[in-house]
Amino acid sequence: MLYSTVREFFPLYKAPRGTSDILPDEQGYWRYVEEKAALLCQLYGYQRITTPVFEDLRLFSRTVAEGTDIVDKEMYIFQDRSGQKLALSPEGTAPICRAYLEHGLYNLPQPVRLYYIASAFRYERPQAGRQRQHHQFGFEALGDADPALDAEVIEMANQFFLSLGLSGFSIQINSIGCRTCRPNYIEALKQHYSPHVASLCPDCQVRFTRNPLRLLDCKKPSCQKLAKTAPKSIDYLCNDCRTHFESVQKYLTALGLSFQVKHRLVRGLDYYTRTVFEIESQREGAQSALGGGGRYDDLMEQLGGDSTPSVGFAAGIERMVRSLKAQEVNIPALPKSDVFVAYRGDEAKLEAMKLALRLRRSQIAVMEATGNRSLKGQMRQANTSGANHTIIIGKTEVENQTVILRDMKSGEQKSVPSAEVEAALEGVNTA
Ligand code: AMP
Repeated sequence: MLYSTVREFFPLYKAPRGTSDILPDEQGYWRYVEEKAALLCQLYGYQRITTPVFEDLRLFSRTVAEGTDIVDKEMYIFQDRSGQKLALSPEGTAPICRAYLEHGLYNLPQPVRLYYIASAFRYERPQAGRQRQHHQFGFEALGDADPALDAEVIEMANQFFLSLGLSGFSIQINSIGCRTCRPNYIEALKQHYSPHVASLCPDCQVRFTRNPLRLLDCKKPSCQKLAKTAPKSIDYLCNDCRTHFESVQKYLTALGLSFQVKHRLVRGLDYYTRTVFEIESQREGAQSALGGGGRYDDLMEQLGGDSTPSVGFAAGIERMVRSLKAQEVNIPALPKSDVFVAYRGDEAKLEAMKLALRLRRSQIAVMEATGNRSLKGQMRQANTSGANHTIIIGKTEVENQTVILRDMKSGEQKSVPSAEVEAALEGVNTA
């Protein structure tokens, strides 16, 4: 169907379910988030790392671990032409640990502080704030067991959301112990749940045998009731873990951060030890987790490395963008073209092309007209381009080696020698 300005038709293909295009209108938010992320990381001494979009499947099945939703149900798994089993990265931490070991980053002074911005792929049920491909900003401090580093990462996450201009979020922390003390806690948890297994949701019945910690995380009301009265992990911590958790809290308090200890906080990935934390927006309804992280002291060993205690954080960029919009945070507009160049006739077109090239080499952003549109059509294009000035070249201008310079706001036009366009645009030579 053809309308005066809008043409509608039905495309043969759409973006896969749970994925979305980030159109130019949205890009201002993304650039804003990425710039704030880069600035934050510079302030805290974190350097960027980029890892492949896909990895050896085992990297995730052994670390995120079987028995977690991500590995059991959500990974995008495929075999390449050589028969190797690969997975699209569902998260950013395991690939970074793999890179740390592969490139000998353990030889650098520790901790090694790294950050990433990357896609994550999970075959989840799409809904607002939950996609099958989403993007994460995350940072990791590798190779140091100091609880001050847990506090640094948590404070940095808090600072990140503040620097975006967001408010109304809270920080929850917990400790889920280590391989020494966690088995006792898991045992207590199983004892608590075992008389009620039949009344658990089907997912939790599986969790009961495969990953009991995740029972605490179930959102189903009947399961939540049992979770509320479940034993608390902090009551089962060994001395080292208890001291560590106390120190983290002491440091956070000293840094002036307000936080709550949430006893039911466990994370969706299996590699966490000791500190876990989450930052939640209190303003958004469902999918309110803005980001989360924790310590993963045993992960490097699972990947064949030496003991490398580490801590990290990741946050979903789509959810940040959603919060920025909901809270009407003012985002700087993306820069537009400085100048639109219009022409009439073939000779003028050639001059227009040469001038555009020259201006761009002087760092002036130029959008050029193309084709054989009427001057009126080109001026419409100039208007929508957002450029402050339009340069018009016709036959007379070619002959006189001049251009017409139009101020798009005031509509004023003047003739300018072609050689003086740069100066005229800078307002130095307005003759
Ligand atoms: P996780 O790796 O599960 O700890 O997730 C880290 C953060 O990524 C979460 O707090 C969310 O902000 C975001 N996130 C996780 N899964 C999704 C998803 N399916 N769609 C959009 N954002 C997500």
